[in-house]
Amino acid sequence: MDYYGSQISRLIEQLSALPGIGSKTAQRLAFHIVNMPMEKVQALSESVLDAKKNVRYCKQCFTMTDRELCPICSNPKRNSRQIMVVENTRDLAAYEKTGRFEGVYHVLHGAISPMLGIGPNDIRLKELMTRLQGEVEEVIIATNSSLEGETTAMYISKLIKPTGILVTRIASGVPVGGDLEYIDEVTLLRALEGRVEL
Ligand code: ZN
Repeated sequence: MDYYGSQISRLIEQLSALPGIGSKTAQRLAFHIVNMPMEKVQALSESVLDAKKNVRYCKQCFTMTDRELCPICSNPKRNSRQIMVVENTRDLAAYEKTGRFEGVYHVLHGAISPMLGIGPNDIRLKELMTRLQGEVEEVIIATNSSLEGETTAMYISKLIKPTGILVTRIASGVPVGGDLEYIDEVTLLRALEGRVEL
């Protein structure tokens, strides 16, 4: 049933296809958008298109950026000998928000999950091992405390151990199965400071 006319229905349909947006929210957003001033709508659609066209992975840490090297990797003040391994760009953002980590990151884009058929070759693990051929003193594994996150942490630690590089894991206290991005900054800092050698 098409109560609204096909164009608004199409907008609602597109919006509700986005993660976390149910049909009610999609309707609210659609009506909001059509009532916005034209230039605001223009700016919104341009930023969506620009992001899609220009955002890529940093060639060093694989976070999302619109440059070849992300602002963190290209910042000379960051300690490139300390690499924190996270599952995704949102987790990186959560640690960056604390403003206290001075090292650099490596974004895996996923975690090992035998159940879902995601193996070591499906995440950016090879790229991490390549980075370790440079001068690296510590790898901090900050994957989630879910089963997949723990499996990934154990796998990485076994892989790195023989190189002699210090491997640490952020402290528990991060709720089990908790997505890092939803954890407050104090808890994240405590987890980082209380990290243990694997
Ligand atoms: Zn980077």
